[in-house]
Amino acid sequence: MEIKKIGVIGAGQMGAGIAQVAAIAGYEVVLNDIKQEFVDRGMATINKSMAKGVEKGKMEQSVMDGALTRIKTTLDLKDMSDVDLVVEAIIEDFGLKSQIFKTLDDICPPHAILASNTSSISITKLAACTSRPEKFIGMHFMNPVPLMKLVEVIRGILTDDETAQAITQASEKMGKIPVECNDYPGFVANRLLLPMLNEAMYCVMEGVGEPENIDQIMKLGMNHPMGPLALADLIGLDTCLHIMEVLHEGLGDSKYRPCPLLVKMVDAGLMGRKSGRGFYDYSR
Ligand code: NAD
Repeated sequence: MEIKKIGVIGAGQMGAGIAQVAAIAGYEVVLNDIKQEFVDRGMATINKSMAKGVEKGKMEQSVMDGALTRIKTTLDLKDMSDVDLVVEAIIEDFGLKSQIFKTLDDICPPHAILASNTSSISITKLAACTSRPEKFIGMHFMNPVPLMKLVEVIRGILTDDETAQAITQASEKMGKIPVECNDYPGFVANRLLLPMLNEAMYCVMEGVGEPENIDQIMKLGMNHPMGPLALADLIGLDTCLHIMEVLHEGLGDSKYRPCPLLVKMVDAGLMGRKSGRGFYDYSR
């Protein structure tokens, strides 16, 4: 099946990035969110990211202009009626995502593939909310999308080969390297990454070290490009908490319990970069 038009649901940091790489690859893109200001913020992110590429000589102005003409925005999911693929990138909440997929299943043409960019929620369980579980798949981009090479491709228990193949090809066309894995809580990337970030938060809570020192130790000692707390702030502390909850519930092991400091920070509205403050202050 040839994918020509892609719907992206959610114009936050991931949705905007996905719309950008899809449009640069030549796909027609329809980007959706619940409020005009969110769609506008997503388009501003896309503009800024590509303008930076042009400024640094990494992208031709004509490529940026072409990509922008291929992105349409909408607040109405009915505009997904002629897409070949939808990539959902709304907040990490099963109730909201399942509702969106039920609606998309009614609106999208029968041949369309439904993909979720979820970080941890069961692909099989989301697929079961639709009438096309064989055409349902996890397409997990990494943050920031324009820079990171990996797409973790997650098959639900009923995902068929044709769907996995189409997503592999689409990921490659977007300049990414797809790697397949199976559907268990957190898949591979976040099953390994999030417990480390959570443990770094315990180190802050227990006074083992200041955030700056914990991050420096992991950068200098393990050659990580970014410390765990700066990375948690980039991912979004709300997203980190949702992922830890999915790991804890889904795997039933107390080693995955979310750090109480993480819970407290999310309760306080400290979400990391996107809210201006997390383990670090981004307001200045
Ligand atoms: P975000 O908070 O930046 O953006 C979420 C967007 O979804 C917001 O603009 C919000 O208005 C919109 N939204 C909420 N409900 C909606 C609805 N019903 N319809 C349409 N839009 C809706 O979050 P994000 O960091 O972009 O994460 C999005 C998804 O991607 C989550 O599932 C997350 O787990 C996953 N993910 C995140 C990262 C990361 O590093 N942040 C990495 C990989 C995957």
